Amino acid sequence: MVATHDVLMVGGGAAGLRAAIAIAEAEPALDVAVVSKVYPMRSHTVSAEGGAAGVIAGDDTIDEHIYDTISGSDWLGDQEAIEAFVHEAPRELLQLEHWGCPWSRQPDGRVAVRAFGGMKKMRTWFAADKTGFHMLHALFQTSLKYPAVTRYDEWFVTRLLVDDGRVHGLVAVELRTGRIRAIAARAVILATGGCGKVFPFTTNANINTGDGMSLAYRAGAPLKDMEFVQYHPTGLPFTGILITEATRAEGAWLLNKDGYRYLQDYDLGTPTPEPQLRSMELGPRDRLSQAFVHEEEKGRTIETPYGSVVHLDLRHLGAKLIDAKLPFVRELCLKYERIDPVTDLIPVRPVVHYMMGGVHTDIDGATPLEGLYAAGETACVSINGANRLGSNSLPECLVFGARAGRAAAAYAASVPRADGLVARAIRGQAADEVRRIERDVRGEAPRDDAIAAIRAEMQEAMEEAAGIYRTGPGLSKGVDVLRGLQERVTRVGVRDTSQVFNTELVASLEAANMLDVAECILASGVRREESRGAHQRTDFPDRDDERFLVHHLVHRGDDGAPLVSQQPVTITRWPPGERVYGR
Ligand SMILES: Cc1cc2nc3c(=O)[nH]c(=O)nc-3n(C[C@H](O)[C@H](O)[C@H](O)COP(=O)(O)OP(=O)(O)OC[C@H]3O[C@@H](n4cnc5c(N)ncnc54)[C@H](O)[C@@H]3O)c2cc1C
Repeated sequence: MVATHDVLMVGGGAAGLRAAIAIAEAEPALDVAVVSKVYPMRSHTVSAEGGAAGVIAGDDTIDEHIYDTISGSDWLGDQEAIEAFVHEAPRELLQLEHWGCPWSRQPDGRVAVRAFGGMKKMRTWFAADKTGFHMLHALFQTSLKYPAVTRYDEWFVTRLLVDDGRVHGLVAVELRTGRIRAIAARAVILATGGCGKVFPFTTNANINTGDGMSLAYRAGAPLKDMEFVQYHPTGLPFTGILITEATRAEGAWLLNKDGYRYLQDYDLGTPTPEPQLRSMELGPRDRLSQAFVHEEEKGRTIETPYGSVVHLDLRHLGAKLIDAKLPFVRELCLKYERIDPVTDLIPVRPVVHYMMGGVHTDIDGATPLEGLYAAGETACVSINGANRLGSNSLPECLVFGARAGRAAAAYAASVPRADGLVARAIRGQAADEVRRIERDVRGEAPRDDAIAAIRAEMQEAMEEAAGIYRTGPGLSKGVDVLRGLQERVTRVGVRDTSQVFNTELVASLEAANMLDVAECILASGVRREESRGAHQRTDFPDRDDERFLVHHLVHRGDDGAPLVSQQPVTITRWPPGERVYGR
């Protein structure tokens, strides 16, 4: 063991840092450590642009935010969790202001809010279009003031240590030196973010490889609702860089190749007579991405070397508004596309953006595995159900990061450290893990396959099988491809034997994690014979509440293949209904 702490946080993004602060405040005597594979300020949270939802404006109500989230989730979100989330989000956002987050203001000094997709009221707080950067900065700076919080920056966690049904710590590679160490703890919180890199075209950072989901899954904790993968309708072709929904909140239009606002031809759950036209671009993300596919089928998109695109038109907004409220969008377009949105149309296409599913937790972030908690995008509480509303994720990280932190602190304060017998057992597991990785690093493993090829084949199979529209046979074919890749990945050797920042080793560990996540996405998708939110099956085009108003849990079977089971959705006050927006 290199060290022992009371609580270990895996991840230094919004959820991980919020949890660390919550522990330091709730139980100041506890010793907390944040383990992160990148320096915390480089976590994906930093790239969030549009904003964070929380009821604040005079004409908004808690019940309306709850209802929007439930109907946005296509009734798959757990209503008890959504109620807690909506009640606690405004307090968390205000707290962040006190920690230094510079929320944009109205001229009279009140916090400014903008409209966001699928939300009937303006409730999205923002810091221009660099919201994630400012939020993460405020959290990071605040975390520094607690002496009880220590950090392991650029340590890659490879395994959870579990004995007798309880988590006792983890094994991690210190990337700077290549040393592999075990760190013991009474509780572990996974806050490792999303898994967009499972797909070839994504807004997600290269580090978003679903590591925490795989760690939990391999340790025996189930994943939940993995079939629900969100496409964002407006990514830049080639890079996949996100053009934030805030552009459409500020009034941008989506145009097809004829310069026509095509969304008026689709059922977005919103009536579209003239007065509503301004808001049709603010339909929910799943419906907008689906409309793009139909435009493509009708030959009304524009062909580019990087796939079909439509245009996002900001020109009528003017330079003054764009520079005040969307400066980052202008910067990204100038740098990556060499176009200026003040005078040019922006080419965009749907892009994989967010994972609704994740590690199954209760409302306090606890997983069924004792001592293991999860929060943020890697967790599935679930408030997002079949489709997340934009700007609900950042506040989710705060609300459930804080909840998981408090729950893990209470747990860690109440249980003794591992006794001698357990300590011996987990030392044995840690030694196994060190041997496994060192064998790869030293290249004793057979080397008849390349990690890059396996990753590319996985991404291609996922796009084929689990894109915006899916079919049963397509999903089953993907399952077969992934089984083959799981077998091949065991034969991959790492050719680079250096100890210092061995990026090939990291890539191979991440690829193995992504394969687990990808298998769970497909296994859950095969079982869900209906269309709901982001999971659209052309062979089962309707929502089927009789059979599928349930969560899918995925456990890892003895043969390593995913086992899918069902769990009821929690309904409190809002019985399932139609998804209707814009009223
Ligand atoms: C481009 C973009 C824009 C977005 N815009 C918005 C928005 O405007 N509003 C909104 O609500 N949501 C937005 N989202 C979604 C939201 O930003 C994310 O869901 C959220 O920031 C995730 O935070 P997190 O703390 O869960 O994880 P992350 O911020 O992704 O952090 C994950 C952490 O885990 C660590 N980690 C991962 N694996 C390991 C490992 N094996 N070992 C050690 N450490 C590990 C990483 O180092 C990192 O510190 C956006 C997402 C993207 C990609």
